[in-house]
Amino acid sequence: MGTCYLGERADMRAAEKDALARGVALGMGLLDTAEMYGDGAAELLIGDMLRSRSLRRADVTIVTKVCPCNASPPTLYKSCDASLARLGAECIDLYLLHWRDGSVALPEMVGGMEELVSRGKIRRWGVSNFDVADMEELFRAPHGDRCAANQILYHLGSRGAEFDLLPWLAKHGVAAMAYCPLAQGGQMRRTTPDFLTEPTLRNLAGKYNVSIFQILLAFVLRSGNICAIPKAASIRHIEENASAPTLAAAISSEDWAALEAAYPPPSHKMHLDMD
Ligand code: NAP
Repeated sequence: MGTCYLGERADMRAAEKDALARGVALGMGLLDTAEMYGDGAAELLIGDMLRSRSLRRADVTIVTKVCPCNASPPTLYKSCDASLARLGAECIDLYLLHWRDGSVALPEMVGGMEELVSRGKIRRWGVSNFDVADMEELFRAPHGDRCAANQILYHLGSRGAEFDLLPWLAKHGVAAMAYCPLAQGGQMRRTTPDFLTEPTLRNLAGKYNVSIFQILLAFVLRSGNICAIPKAASIRHIEENASAPTLAAAISSEDWAALEAAYPPPSHKMHLDMD
């Protein structure tokens, strides 16, 4: 489950914690957050949710991210400690570089991440918004091939990663995590044709008696090789999202083919989309 924008409104916090706790109970125990979200508010919400809903640390997998400006030691260590304190956790399961900018020297970042692993502060580390050329450069850094995951924008209307990035990650044993799997509730400007009016998607949703968003999530999960982190703030949305793996298995190959025709896969290298 994603957590962007969660924890930022005092009057919504209780409902958001209920929604996340319901998701954990339904098996969606991977929680994605970042030091940047609400300036730490989303991490605080997760920590609060784990304590107040009496969840065990073992019930969840915590993924959080460091901003590029904090990604070099010793600032990296301070950022990690601050995230751990907000989360009320002793260890982060997966710590990601949120995105890459000119301030990040990859060998230093990798060295810092490996140091955090040896100190027991994080279990694994990874990156986000890295295209193939970035991944190749990362793998040339000492221990860069220990990168566990790359979190990227991927949904039915943004399939560029299928051309080369997803195969590259699979070949090198790096987990792919799809952010914005619902294209932000269908609002993303890059979605063409528009999810909210495209007839094939609507017909499929009607046929399987689900919403178009459940179809979108099922699409991302259909291969079984990609982890999706949809964000939802209500129990209704959480429950709908939790049913997506079952839906993915139920959709017929003819119906997948119809969807592929409406939203074709890439035929050439495309720039990796980013939110
Ligand atoms: P998203 O998950 O594609 O979409 C979230 C939107 O979809 C919300 O408005 C939510 O509404 C709505 N929604 C959720 N379930 C729904 C359902 N069953 N039916 C209808 N609408 C539904 O977009 P996102 O939040 O941008 O991305 C997901 C997560 O990825 C983020 O929260 C964050 O953790 C991560 N992320 C990472 C990066 C990165 O650079 N690494 C960038 C962006 C996002 P409600 O909230 O009202 O339920």
